[in-house]
Amino acid sequence: MTTQSLKKYKRITVKIGSALLVDRSTGLKRDWLASLADDIAALAADGAEILVVSSGAIALGRTILGLGKRALKLEESQAAAAVGQIALAGAWSEELGRKGLKSGQILLTLGDTEERRRYLNARATIGTLLKMKAVPVINENDTVATSEIRYGDNDRLAARVATMMGGDLLVLLSDIDGLYTAPPATDPNAKFLPVVERITPEIEAMAGAAASELSRGGMRTKLDAGKIATTAGTAMIITSGARLNPLTAMERGERFTLFHPSRTPVKGYKSWIAGQLEPAGRLTVDAGAIGALLQGKSLLPAGVRLVSGSFSRGDTVAVLSPEGFEIARGLVAYDAADAVRIAGLKTAEIEAVLGYEARSAMVHRDDLVVSRAGLEYRKEAKG
Ligand code: GLU
Repeated sequence: MTTQSLKKYKRITVKIGSALLVDRSTGLKRDWLASLADDIAALAADGAEILVVSSGAIALGRTILGLGKRALKLEESQAAAAVGQIALAGAWSEELGRKGLKSGQILLTLGDTEERRRYLNARATIGTLLKMKAVPVINENDTVATSEIRYGDNDRLAARVATMMGGDLLVLLSDIDGLYTAPPATDPNAKFLPVVERITPEIEAMAGAAASELSRGGMRTKLDAGKIATTAGTAMIITSGARLNPLTAMERGERFTLFHPSRTPVKGYKSWIAGQLEPAGRLTVDAGAIGALLQGKSLLPAGVRLVSGSFSRGDTVAVLSPEGFEIARGLVAYDAADAVRIAGLKTAEIEAVLGYEARSAMVHRDDLVVSRAGLEYRKEAKG
Protein backbone atom coordinates (compact mmCIF):
# COMPACT_ATOMS: atom_id res chain seq x y z
CA MET A 1 0.00 0.00 0.00
CA THR A 2 1.30 3.46 -0.79
CA THR A 3 0.19 6.93 0.16
CA GLN A 4 2.29 8.63 -2.49
CA SER A 5 0.34 11.76 -3.35
CA LEU A 6 -0.75 12.42 0.23
CA LYS A 7 2.84 11.97 1.31
CA LYS A 8 3.76 15.63 1.03
CA TYR A 9 1.21 16.51 3.72
CA LYS A 10 2.44 16.51 7.28
CA ARG A 11 -0.70 17.22 9.32
CA ILE A 12 -3.88 15.77 7.86
CA THR A 13 -7.41 16.13 9.22
CA VAL A 14 -9.82 13.47 7.95
CA LYS A 15 -13.55 14.15 8.33
CA ILE A 16 -15.92 11.22 8.08
CA GLY A 17 -19.61 11.69 7.32
CA SER A 18 -22.28 9.79 9.25
CA ALA A 19 -23.59 7.93 6.19
CA LEU A 20 -20.19 6.29 5.70
CA LEU A 21 -19.89 4.96 9.23
CA VAL A 22 -23.44 4.06 10.13
CA ASP A 23 -26.02 1.87 8.44
CA ARG A 24 -29.52 2.70 9.65
CA SER A 25 -30.48 -0.94 10.13
CA THR A 26 -27.23 -2.71 11.01
CA GLY A 27 -25.38 0.04 12.89
CA LEU A 28 -21.66 0.71 12.73
CA LYS A 29 -19.85 -0.35 9.55
CA ARG A 30 -16.92 -2.07 11.20
CA ASP A 31 -15.19 -3.40 8.08
CA TRP A 32 -15.18 0.02 6.54
CA LEU A 33 -13.84 1.62 9.71
CA ALA A 34 -11.11 -1.03 9.89
CA SER A 35 -10.10 -0.25 6.31
CA LEU A 36 -9.91 3.47 7.06
CA ALA A 37 -7.84 2.75 10.16
CA ASP A 38 -5.49 0.84 7.82
CA ASP A 39 -5.08 3.92 5.64
CA ILE A 40 -4.54 6.17 8.65
CA ALA A 41 -1.86 3.83 9.97
CA ALA A 42 -0.14 3.89 6.56
CA LEU A 43 -0.08 7.69 6.54
CA ALA A 44 1.17 7.77 10.10
CA ALA A 45 3.90 5.29 9.22
CA ASP A 46 4.96 7.71 6.47
CA GLY A 47 5.40 10.37 9.15
CA ALA A 48 2.14 12.33 8.93
CA GLU A 49 0.15 13.45 11.97
CA ILE A 50 -3.52 12.54 11.60
CA LEU A 51 -6.59 14.07 13.20
CA VAL A 52 -9.99 12.45 12.82
CA VAL A 53 -13.26 14.37 12.87
CA SER A 54 -15.90 11.67 13.05
CA SER A 55 -19.62 12.19 12.66
CA GLY A 56 -22.07 9.43 13.37
CA ALA A 57 -22.93 9.80 17.06
CA ILE A 58 -26.57 10.71 16.52
CA ALA A 59 -27.09 8.24 13.65
CA LEU A 60 -25.51 5.41 15.62
CA GLY A 61 -27.36 6.24 18.84
CA ARG A 62 -30.62 6.30 16.93
CA THR A 63 -29.93 2.79 15.62
CA ILE A 64 -28.84 1.43 18.99
CA LEU A 65 -31.93 2.90 20.67
CA GLY A 66 -34.24 1.67 17.89
CA LEU A 67 -35.65 5.15 17.21
CA GLY A 68 -36.30 4.44 13.54
CA LYS A 69 -36.38 7.20 10.97
CA ARG A 70 -38.75 9.61 12.64
CA ALA A 71 -37.68 13.19 13.32
CA LEU A 72 -36.14 13.53 16.79
CA LYS A 73 -36.83 16.27 19.31
CA LEU A 74 -33.77 18.16 20.50
CA GLU A 75 -33.54 16.25 23.79
CA GLU A 76 -33.97 12.94 21.94
CA SER A 77 -31.13 13.65 19.53
CA GLN A 78 -28.98 14.80 22.46
CA ALA A 79 -29.71 11.49 24.18
CA ALA A 80 -29.07 9.55 20.96
CA ALA A 81 -25.73 11.36 20.65
CA ALA A 82 -24.78 10.32 24.18
CA VAL A 83 -25.48 6.66 23.41
CA GLY A 84 -23.93 6.82 19.94
CA GLN A 85 -20.80 8.74 20.92
CA ILE A 86 -19.63 6.23 23.51
CA ALA A 87 -19.98 3.41 20.98
CA LEU A 88 -18.39 5.46 18.22
CA ALA A 89 -15.37 6.45 20.29
CA GLY A 90 -14.97 2.86 21.47
CA ALA A 91 -14.95 1.60 17.89
CA TRP A 92 -12.36 4.18 16.83
CA SER A 93 -10.15 3.37 19.77
CA GLU A 94 -10.36 -0.35 19.00
CA GLU A 95 -9.78 -0.12 15.26
CA LEU A 96 -6.91 2.37 15.52
CA GLY A 97 -5.53 0.32 18.40
CA ARG A 98 -5.47 -2.78 16.21
CA LYS A 99 -3.13 -0.90 13.88
CA GLY A 100 -0.90 0.09 16.78
CA LEU A 101 -2.21 3.65 17.09
CA LYS A 102 -3.33 5.35 20.31
CA SER A 103 -6.32 7.67 20.19
CA GLY A 104 -8.04 10.26 22.38
CA GLN A 105 -11.58 11.62 22.28
CA ILE A 106 -12.22 15.36 22.02
CA LEU A 107 -15.78 16.72 22.10
CA LEU A 108 -16.04 20.37 21.15
CA THR A 109 -18.77 22.94 21.63
CA LEU A 110 -18.99 26.02 19.43
CA GLY A 111 -17.35 28.31 22.00
CA ASP A 112 -14.25 26.09 22.05
CA THR A 113 -13.23 27.44 18.67
CA GLU A 114 -15.09 30.78 18.53
CA GLU A 115 -13.90 32.24 21.83
CA ARG A 116 -10.24 33.12 21.69
CA ARG A 117 -9.24 31.83 25.12
CA ARG A 118 -11.02 28.51 24.73
CA TYR A 119 -9.63 28.20 21.22
CA LEU A 120 -6.08 28.46 22.55
CA ASN A 121 -6.90 25.91 25.23
CA ALA A 122 -8.39 23.39 22.77
CA ARG A 123 -5.40 23.90 20.49
CA ALA A 124 -2.97 23.19 23.32
CA THR A 125 -4.75 19.97 24.30
CA ILE A 126 -4.99 18.65 20.75
CA GLY A 127 -1.36 19.65 20.15
CA THR A 128 -0.32 17.69 23.21
CA LEU A 129 -2.18 14.61 21.99
CA LEU A 130 -0.35 14.85 18.67
CA LYS A 131 2.99 15.19 20.46
CA MET A 132 2.15 12.04 22.42
CA LYS A 133 1.48 10.33 19.08
CA ALA A 134 -2.20 9.76 19.82
CA VAL A 135 -4.78 10.35 17.10
CA PRO A 136 -7.35 12.94 18.25
CA VAL A 137 -10.85 11.66 17.44
CA ILE A 138 -13.05 14.73 17.43
CA ASN A 139 -16.80 15.38 17.26
CA GLU A 140 -19.19 18.08 18.30
CA ASN A 141 -20.43 17.62 21.85
CA ASP A 142 -23.95 16.97 20.61
CA THR A 143 -25.32 16.04 24.03
CA VAL A 144 -25.08 19.64 25.21
CA ALA A 145 -25.27 21.49 21.90
CA THR A 146 -28.61 23.21 21.30
CA SER A 147 -29.74 24.37 17.89
CA GLU A 148 -28.69 27.96 18.62
CA ILE A 149 -25.28 27.09 20.01
CA ARG A 150 -23.77 24.53 17.71
CA TYR A 151 -21.62 24.00 14.66
CA GLY A 152 -24.40 21.81 13.29
CA ASP A 153 -22.23 20.24 10.65
CA ASN A 154 -18.88 18.55 10.98
CA ASP A 155 -17.56 19.95 7.67
CA ARG A 156 -17.04 23.41 9.14
CA LEU A 157 -16.03 21.96 12.50
CA ALA A 158 -13.33 19.95 10.73
CA ALA A 159 -12.12 23.03 8.84
CA ARG A 160 -11.96 24.99 12.07
CA VAL A 161 -9.95 22.18 13.70
CA ALA A 162 -7.62 21.73 10.71
CA THR A 163 -6.77 25.43 10.60
CA MET A 164 -6.60 25.80 14.37
CA MET A 165 -3.91 23.10 14.31
CA GLY A 166 -2.06 24.63 11.35
CA GLY A 167 -2.74 21.53 9.25
CA ASP A 168 -1.73 21.40 5.60
CA LEU A 169 -4.57 19.13 4.41
CA LEU A 170 -8.23 18.56 5.20
CA VAL A 171 -9.89 15.51 3.62
CA LEU A 172 -13.69 15.38 3.63
CA LEU A 173 -14.83 11.80 3.10
CA SER A 174 -18.30 12.11 1.74
CA ASP A 175 -21.05 10.22 -0.08
CA ILE A 176 -20.09 12.15 -3.22
CA ASP A 177 -16.69 11.95 -4.93
CA GLY A 178 -16.11 15.68 -5.33
CA LEU A 179 -17.51 18.92 -6.68
CA TYR A 180 -19.55 19.03 -9.88
CA THR A 181 -20.63 22.05 -11.91
CA ALA A 182 -24.16 21.30 -10.65
CA PRO A 183 -25.63 18.73 -8.24
CA PRO A 184 -25.18 15.48 -10.26
CA ALA A 185 -28.23 13.83 -8.70
CA THR A 186 -30.51 16.34 -10.40
CA ASP A 187 -28.47 17.52 -13.40
CA PRO A 188 -27.27 14.87 -15.91
CA ASN A 189 -24.97 17.44 -17.57
CA ALA A 190 -23.04 18.12 -14.37
CA LYS A 191 -19.29 17.95 -14.94
CA PHE A 192 -16.74 16.83 -12.37
CA LEU A 193 -14.14 19.40 -11.26
CA PRO A 194 -10.79 17.83 -10.27
CA VAL A 195 -9.21 21.11 -9.12
CA VAL A 196 -10.58 24.32 -7.65
CA GLU A 197 -8.10 27.16 -7.53
CA ARG A 198 -10.28 29.49 -5.48
CA ILE A 199 -13.84 29.37 -4.17
CA THR A 200 -15.52 32.14 -6.14
CA PRO A 201 -19.24 33.04 -6.07
CA GLU A 202 -19.55 31.00 -9.33
CA ILE A 203 -18.11 27.92 -7.59
CA GLU A 204 -20.48 28.46 -4.68
CA ALA A 205 -23.42 28.55 -7.06
CA MET A 206 -22.53 25.01 -8.20
CA ALA A 207 -23.20 23.51 -4.79
CA GLY A 208 -27.00 23.56 -4.86
CA ALA A 209 -28.69 22.86 -1.56
CA ALA A 210 -28.68 19.06 -1.43
CA ALA A 211 -27.91 17.22 1.78
CA SER A 212 -28.06 13.43 2.16
CA GLU A 213 -30.44 11.70 4.50
CA LEU A 214 -27.90 11.09 7.25
CA SER A 215 -25.55 14.04 7.02
CA ARG A 216 -26.38 17.61 7.78
CA GLY A 217 -23.86 19.17 5.47
CA GLY A 218 -24.40 18.78 1.75
CA MET A 219 -22.06 20.56 -0.65
CA ARG A 220 -22.69 24.03 0.72
CA THR A 221 -21.12 23.44 4.11
CA LYS A 222 -18.24 21.68 2.32
CA LEU A 223 -17.53 24.84 0.38
CA ASP A 224 -17.81 26.90 3.58
CA ALA A 225 -15.26 24.50 5.05
CA GLY A 226 -13.13 25.00 1.95
CA LYS A 227 -13.14 28.76 2.40
CA ILE A 228 -12.06 28.49 6.03
CA ALA A 229 -9.36 25.94 5.20
CA THR A 230 -7.85 27.48 2.07
CA THR A 231 -7.78 31.02 3.52
CA ALA A 232 -5.61 29.71 6.33
CA GLY A 233 -3.30 27.84 3.93
CA THR A 234 -4.81 24.35 4.34
CA ALA A 235 -5.56 22.42 1.14
CA MET A 236 -8.87 20.56 1.03
CA ILE A 237 -9.89 17.35 -0.72
CA ILE A 238 -13.44 16.08 -1.17
CA THR A 239 -13.60 12.41 -2.11
CA SER A 240 -15.99 9.54 -1.78
CA GLY A 241 -15.81 7.31 1.24
CA ALA A 242 -18.18 4.81 -0.33
CA ARG A 243 -15.38 2.28 -0.91
CA LEU A 244 -13.04 0.47 1.43
CA ASN A 245 -9.65 2.12 2.09
CA PRO A 246 -10.96 5.49 0.89
CA LEU A 247 -7.67 7.35 1.39
CA THR A 248 -5.43 4.94 -0.47
CA ALA A 249 -8.20 4.63 -3.08
CA MET A 250 -7.08 8.05 -4.30
CA GLU A 251 -3.65 6.56 -5.01
CA ARG A 252 -5.34 3.88 -7.05
CA GLY A 253 -6.88 6.50 -9.27
CA GLU A 254 -10.26 7.09 -7.65
CA ARG A 255 -11.19 10.68 -8.22
CA PHE A 256 -11.34 13.61 -5.88
CA THR A 257 -11.59 17.41 -5.99
CA LEU A 258 -8.56 19.31 -4.70
CA PHE A 259 -9.04 22.86 -3.42
CA HIS A 260 -5.79 24.80 -3.52
CA PRO A 261 -4.74 26.72 -0.42
CA SER A 262 -4.17 30.46 -0.61
CA ARG A 263 -0.63 31.38 -1.60
CA THR A 264 -0.74 34.17 0.98
CA PRO A 265 -2.42 32.42 3.90
CA VAL A 266 -3.74 34.22 6.92
CA LYS A 267 -2.01 32.93 10.06
CA GLY A 268 -2.36 32.85 13.84
CA TYR A 269 -4.71 35.36 15.46
CA LYS A 270 -5.95 36.58 12.09
CA SER A 271 -6.75 33.07 10.92
CA TRP A 272 -8.91 32.65 14.03
CA ILE A 273 -10.79 35.81 13.03
CA ALA A 274 -11.10 34.83 9.35
CA GLY A 275 -12.52 31.40 10.24
CA GLN A 276 -15.22 32.63 12.66
CA LEU A 277 -18.33 30.71 11.71
CA GLU A 278 -21.13 33.23 12.28
CA PRO A 279 -20.45 36.95 12.22
CA ALA A 280 -22.67 38.70 14.75
CA GLY A 281 -23.25 41.68 12.48
CA ARG A 282 -22.61 43.30 9.12
CA LEU A 283 -21.10 46.63 8.18
CA THR A 284 -21.75 47.80 4.63
CA VAL A 285 -19.02 50.21 3.59
CA ASP A 286 -18.36 52.59 0.69
CA ALA A 287 -15.78 52.31 -2.09
CA GLY A 288 -13.33 54.61 -0.32
CA ALA A 289 -13.32 52.42 2.76
CA ILE A 290 -12.76 49.30 0.65
CA GLY A 291 -9.75 50.95 -0.97
CA ALA A 292 -8.34 51.73 2.47
CA LEU A 293 -8.93 48.17 3.76
CA LEU A 294 -7.17 46.69 0.76
CA GLN A 295 -4.16 48.87 1.58
CA GLY A 296 -4.08 47.38 5.06
CA LYS A 297 -5.72 50.32 6.86
CA SER A 298 -8.34 50.28 9.60
CA LEU A 299 -12.05 50.67 8.90
CA LEU A 300 -13.10 54.13 10.07
CA PRO A 301 -16.68 55.04 10.99
CA ALA A 302 -16.75 57.57 8.14
CA GLY A 303 -16.76 54.81 5.54
CA VAL A 304 -19.58 52.78 7.09
CA ARG A 305 -22.93 53.20 5.33
CA LEU A 306 -25.08 50.61 7.04
CA VAL A 307 -24.90 48.66 10.31
CA SER A 308 -26.95 45.52 10.85
CA GLY A 309 -27.15 42.83 13.49
CA SER A 310 -26.93 43.02 17.27
CA PHE A 311 -23.34 42.77 18.38
CA SER A 312 -21.15 43.84 21.25
CA ARG A 313 -17.70 45.33 21.15
CA GLY A 314 -15.22 42.56 20.36
CA ASP A 315 -17.67 40.46 18.34
CA THR A 316 -16.94 39.39 14.78
CA VAL A 317 -18.56 41.38 12.00
CA ALA A 318 -18.51 40.91 8.25
CA VAL A 319 -17.55 43.94 6.16
CA LEU A 320 -19.63 44.09 2.98
CA SER A 321 -19.23 46.01 -0.27
CA PRO A 322 -22.17 48.14 -1.47
CA GLU A 323 -23.25 45.09 -3.58
CA GLY A 324 -23.26 42.87 -0.50
CA PHE A 325 -19.99 41.10 -1.28
CA GLU A 326 -18.00 40.05 1.82
CA ILE A 327 -14.71 41.95 1.68
CA ALA A 328 -13.34 41.37 5.15
CA ARG A 329 -14.03 40.13 8.64
CA GLY A 330 -12.96 41.72 11.86
CA LEU A 331 -13.57 42.32 15.53
CA VAL A 332 -15.68 45.43 15.95
CA ALA A 333 -14.64 48.18 18.38
CA TYR A 334 -18.19 49.36 19.25
CA ASP A 335 -21.48 47.88 20.37
CA ALA A 336 -24.12 47.86 17.63
CA ALA A 337 -26.10 50.79 19.10
CA ASP A 338 -23.03 53.05 19.10
CA ALA A 339 -21.91 51.80 15.69
CA VAL A 340 -25.26 52.88 14.26
CA ARG A 341 -24.92 56.34 15.80
CA ILE A 342 -21.42 57.02 14.47
CA ALA A 343 -21.66 55.35 11.05
CA GLY A 344 -20.72 57.89 8.40
CA LEU A 345 -19.23 60.38 10.89
CA LYS A 346 -15.72 61.79 10.79
CA THR A 347 -13.49 60.95 13.73
CA ALA A 348 -13.66 64.53 15.06
CA GLU A 349 -17.48 64.37 15.25
CA ILE A 350 -17.72 61.12 17.14
CA GLU A 351 -17.01 62.27 20.68
CA ALA A 352 -19.84 64.78 20.62
CA VAL A 353 -22.27 62.07 19.59
CA LEU A 354 -21.12 59.36 21.98
CA GLY A 355 -20.28 61.61 24.92
CA TYR A 356 -16.97 59.86 25.54
CA GLU A 357 -13.58 59.90 23.94
CA ALA A 358 -13.75 57.10 21.43
CA ARG A 359 -11.18 55.09 19.60
CA SER A 360 -11.08 56.17 15.99
CA ALA A 361 -11.46 52.85 14.17
CA MET A 362 -14.70 50.92 13.79
CA VAL A 363 -12.52 47.86 13.14
CA HIS A 364 -8.80 48.23 13.83
CA ARG A 365 -6.50 46.86 11.16
CA ASP A 366 -4.87 44.47 13.66
CA ASP A 367 -8.28 42.87 14.14
CA LEU A 368 -9.24 42.80 10.48
CA VAL A 369 -8.73 40.23 7.71
CA VAL A 370 -9.47 40.88 4.05
CA SER A 371 -11.06 37.78 2.45
CA ARG A 372 -9.73 36.05 -0.66
CA ALA A 373 -12.85 37.25 -2.45
CA GLY A 374 -12.07 40.77 -1.19
CA LEU A 375 -8.63 40.65 -2.80
CA GLU A 376 -10.31 39.66 -6.04
CA TYR A 377 -12.70 42.61 -5.67
CA ARG A 378 -9.65 44.82 -5.95
CA LYS A 379 -8.64 43.19 -9.25
CA GLU A 380 -12.16 43.47 -10.64
CA ALA A 381 -12.48 47.07 -9.52
CA LYS A 382 -9.20 47.89 -11.26
CA GLY A 383 -10.62 46.21 -14.36
N1 GLU B 1 -22.02 15.68 15.13
C1 GLU B 1 -23.01 14.91 14.43
C2 GLU B 1 -22.94 13.46 14.87
O1 GLU B 1 -21.92 12.98 15.24
C3 GLU B 1 -22.82 14.93 12.92
C4 GLU B 1 -22.84 16.27 12.26
C5 GLU B 1 -22.75 16.10 10.73
O2 GLU B 1 -23.35 15.19 10.17
O3 GLU B 1 -22.04 16.89 10.09
O4 GLU B 1 -23.92 12.77 14.83
